[in-house]
Amino acid sequence: MSLLTPAMEALVAEFARLPGIGRKTALRLALHSLGHREEAAALAGALKRLAEECRFCKDCGNLSEEELCAVCSNPRRDAGLICVVESLPDLLAVERSGDYRGLYHILGGALSPLDGIGPRDLRIAELERRVAGGTVRELLLATNGTVEGDATALYLVERLRGADIAISRLARGVPMGGSLDFIDRLTLSRAIDGREKLQGPEG
Ligand SMILES: [Zn+2]
Repeated sequence: MSLLTPAMEALVAEFARLPGIGRKTALRLALHSLGHREEAAALAGALKRLAEECRFCKDCGNLSEEELCAVCSNPRRDAGLICVVESLPDLLAVERSGDYRGLYHILGGALSPLDGIGPRDLRIAELERRVAGGTVRELLLATNGTVEGDATALYLVERLRGADIAISRLARGVPMGGSLDFIDRLTLSRAIDGREKLQGPEG
């Protein structure tokens, strides 16, 4: 039986469900919340607002409060170029690099058979639909420089073979094993500029 009060027990249980938080840390966070009630109320409010107002863009998977995100609904972005990334932090990294003007597609991870992550667990069918829509001219594969990221890029090239678009991969300025999130701005900007074409529009 838990010696905690029901309210404390409930909060510890919720914290402990977060990734990377064990029960010990959860208890520490819950006690901290009890000692800092204003902060805790602000946190609760922010979480509630997130749940109510934030969703994912129907096209690219970016965060949005509307059906389409700020990038997809910006008429000045090049809708013919789509940068395919694994996750939101990677999208933010490419945006930070400065001069990318195309759209994005967030896969929601990378292929990893050992972790049981297959093509159906990623937003690959959605990507195919966007390509089939006809406005896409080039896909820039910007998955991470890991074994999984490379495997995912290769898989996408295979799967989209025959589509009448160019496919390119970030240049090898991206360190092996590197996540885009940790690459400095200039290196990423150069990797985008120097991207290698894997497939021409003729297939
Ligand atoms: Zn979007």
